[in-house]
Amino acid sequence: MMKNELYDLVIIGAGPAGMSAALTLKKKKPDASVLILEKNDVVGKKLAVTGNGRCNIDNATSGFYNENLAFFESIGLSIFTEDEGRAYPTTESAIQTREYLLKQLIECKVELMLQTEVTDVSVCSHCDKDKEELKLRGAFDMDFTCEDSNIFCIKAGKKLQIYSRNLLVATGGKSVSLLGSTGDGFKFAKSVCHKVNPPYPSLTPVKIVDDISSLNKMRIRGKLMLYKDKKLIHEEVGQVQFKQKSISGIVTLNTSMDIRPDGKADLESSYAGYVLVLNPMHHFDIKHIRRCLKAKLSILEDKGLSNGAKPVPVREEDTRIRNIISYLLEGLFPVQFAKYVADNMNLAGEKVSQIACDNVTEFINYIIRQVQNLEFHIAGLEGWKEAQTTGGGVDQSELNSSFQSKNIKGLYFAGEIIDYRAKCGGYNLSFCWHSGIKVGTAIGELI
Ligand SMILES: Cc1cc2nc3c(=O)[nH]c(=O)nc-3n(C[C@H](O)[C@H](O)[C@H](O)COP(=O)(O)OP(=O)(O)OC[C@H]3O[C@@H](n4cnc5c(N)ncnc54)[C@H](O)[C@@H]3O)c2cc1C
Repeated sequence: MMKNELYDLVIIGAGPAGMSAALTLKKKKPDASVLILEKNDVVGKKLAVTGNGRCNIDNATSGFYNENLAFFESIGLSIFTEDEGRAYPTTESAIQTREYLLKQLIECKVELMLQTEVTDVSVCSHCDKDKEELKLRGAFDMDFTCEDSNIFCIKAGKKLQIYSRNLLVATGGKSVSLLGSTGDGFKFAKSVCHKVNPPYPSLTPVKIVDDISSLNKMRIRGKLMLYKDKKLIHEEVGQVQFKQKSISGIVTLNTSMDIRPDGKADLESSYAGYVLVLNPMHHFDIKHIRRCLKAKLSILEDKGLSNGAKPVPVREEDTRIRNIISYLLEGLFPVQFAKYVADNMNLAGEKVSQIACDNVTEFINYIIRQVQNLEFHIAGLEGWKEAQTTGGGVDQSELNSSFQSKNIKGLYFAGEIIDYRAKCGGYNLSFCWHSGIKVGTAIGELI
């Protein structure tokens, strides 16, 4: 089927970037003809799962917030901010936000073609040969008067062929492809000679070498530090979430942005220089902790569980000390975590058992120091299935401030398809709205 219309704007992808571009343009120019082609059977499939279902829609410190807020207000979507500037719709529902945007698209008369997967895009130049060919193919009434404009041809398989004066590629990146973004936009960008920096999974859980299965599903607050070759390269305070073989949670996802394999053939050894160090006592009052630990130690003494200086075989002594440490830490952390810490603590041979007997204060200080530096060795990063966003993508140096291609007039990119580095906390969606709004505004000024 050939659509007998020359659109003002065709958008590939009904994610936040594509939808904000369409709505911005239609608010500015209600008569503009805008078509969105979306391969899923719903719009905003990824948007609907954001922010653990609450939709962390933006961040007050993103640099785009005021402009984005004006857009949200223009469509009647109310927002509030909480800790660290994180912004949410007041409904706190990602699904309802998606449905709301869909209603707005329909009200603004944006044409939507769902279950339509674009397979190819090309540029018809304004040369006479192309014009003649388009005329012969009867694609639309030729009012193709502006000599320096391009016409884009967008194909969805063999069934559908559409023409447009402007094209926005808002296909997202490659993360969580089940939700629609399978990297098609990178292929389209390359096909029109745009520079695409190699995409990689970003904001991912970190796979751990050590056996952390006993901590599965546990959430612990603290300071997470990333060391590379013993040098601190990232630190952040927040909550880490343990999984069977990996660590997740916002602080870990942000930290993952600084972990890069060094290209060794053996994947595990290519992460060898990296260590994650967790200090789960970061927010504790250490003097208070010392008093708590001292009190518990004296309970042990009273029960006669401490064996004084009586010599015992090293292995038995090791188990005894670990049991004492686990017991001491149970008042501070979840029991399983206390046990993990005690079981994995470096006891440095007989020295610890010696100080445990001789010097209570030194023993407590030793435990605190160890707990403040829990090491987790990195096996790698989780891949595209778990990545919240895509690193790499369409190089911004080939786009102007409206995200229009510097090489091909009328071609725009917006959202995650662009190489833009942002941490968790609403910053990724912020950039999607921002780039979509810029594109809609720029086209609205041109037509
Ligand atoms: C689990 C999860 C939670 C997240 N939570 C947050 C959060 O709280 N805050 C935040 O800021 N960011 C969050 N993100 C990141 C954020 O959701 C994305 O960065 C954002 O959705 C990208 O928007 P986009 O419009 O660029 O692309 P997408 O939302 O990926 O939309 C692109 C659309 O293009 C369509 N498409 C692709 N190829 C084609 C084609 N060939 N033809 C037709 N259609 C096509 C896709 O089906 C898709 O609907 C989260 C991501 C994940 C995975």
